[in-house]
Amino acid sequence: MTTILQTESTPRGFVEKTALERYVAPAKPSLVGLSRAALAEALGTIGVPATQRKMRVQQLWNWIYIRGVTRFADMSSVSKELRAALEAHFTLDRPEVVAEQVSVDGTRKWLLRLPGEHAAERPHEVECVYIPDAGRATLCVSSQVGCTLTCSFCHTGTQRLVRNLTASEIVGQVMVARDRLGDWPGGTSPEGAIVPTDGGRFVTNVVMMGMGEPLYNFEAVRDALLVVQDGDGIGISKRRITLSTSGVVPNIARAGSEIGTMLAISLHAVNDDLRNELVPLNRKYPIAALLDACRNYPGVSNARRITFEYVMLKGVNDSLDDAKKLVRLLKGIPAKINLIPFNPWPGSRYECSDWEQIEKFSEHIFNAGYSSPVRTPRGRDILAACGQLKSATEKLSARERMALRAMAMTD
Ligand code: SAH
Ligand code: SF4
Repeated sequence: MTTILQTESTPRGFVEKTALERYVAPAKPSLVGLSRAALAEALGTIGVPATQRKMRVQQLWNWIYIRGVTRFADMSSVSKELRAALEAHFTLDRPEVVAEQVSVDGTRKWLLRLPGEHAAERPHEVECVYIPDAGRATLCVSSQVGCTLTCSFCHTGTQRLVRNLTASEIVGQVMVARDRLGDWPGGTSPEGAIVPTDGGRFVTNVVMMGMGEPLYNFEAVRDALLVVQDGDGIGISKRRITLSTSGVVPNIARAGSEIGTMLAISLHAVNDDLRNELVPLNRKYPIAALLDACRNYPGVSNARRITFEYVMLKGVNDSLDDAKKLVRLLKGIPAKINLIPFNPWPGSRYECSDWEQIEKFSEHIFNAGYSSPVRTPRGRDILAACGQLKSATEKLSARERMALRAMAMTD
């Protein structure tokens, strides 16, 4: 049993919470989501000779990620003995789906249950949201149960429970989406499902914008996203994967070189005083340091712009002056700006900006040369009915928020 979440504290002590939960590996771990190296190692533990491992890994990779099998018994090209050994020690489990909601516009949400530290504990739950659009479909994926950070407008930040997801649980969210959509050879999609109709894949894009701060779960997120990118498997290119961070500066360059996906920064304010309040991590990594990390993000260019997320909070950060400062601040950085309507939750101290104000703000940004789409909410009908999935009001707003985030990234 290892504590997998390391938190840093600051002299003022309020930037981050301490993680409370631990991950305890199941007796039979899942092979889904392991890197090729970890898979080879797992095969070693059940006696597969070193000389055969690479070939076996390739075989398993194909069965898991191209065929989508969920039982070792279906791996017909694998010898009977090896299948039996695999069966005895491992599974091909994905996170357990405890509920699914489908919107008339095709948005789907899955509530996933993950094992807790011990049986008596309340199970850990995260959500995963699928947003289909013409010619593309985006999956919004979680990286942690809860979050150690405490952004004042974000409901996840108020949750006490925090645990890092494993790489398997992160890749598992993509697998769940493909399972539920019938996106494997010979699969059938559920009746009426809205999926891209170009004959290609059903999940075309991934955004790490669900629960959690992905750069505080660096290794698992990296390993998972490398599996998702792998051209012999799921094969979603790194240009179609976006990692969103609240600004963990030391890990931004690492993300660029070790993961290589698109980057989104939760900026939300144009001066340090306000950002300290909205995104307390700013006290540790202020705006100037954050923007420096963006300028130096490996691979950044006009073709690979950084997305700046900006949540619209009435009377807080939504003035025309803020818009002007935002444009000035981002000068010289290949950037896109994503305005996100604030999604209120019970007890939140903010309101969403008025629509006219969002339009004014957006217009200024547009005139400065940025596209700044503000999206119509997707999946409204299922958001309204979200109490059916979980009764706690806190969870109710979590799902709404997540859909909004993912929606904001579908341009
Ligand atoms: N922890 C990472 C990724 C998850 S949050 C991050 O903060 O970037 C994904 C996005 O949703 C972030 O831009 C976050 O600021 C935004 N967000 C959080 N709560 C929100 C709310 N109530 N309304 C609108 N956007 C919200
Ligand atoms: Fe964590 Fe992101 Fe929410 Fe901030 S906005 S508390 S970093 S999930």
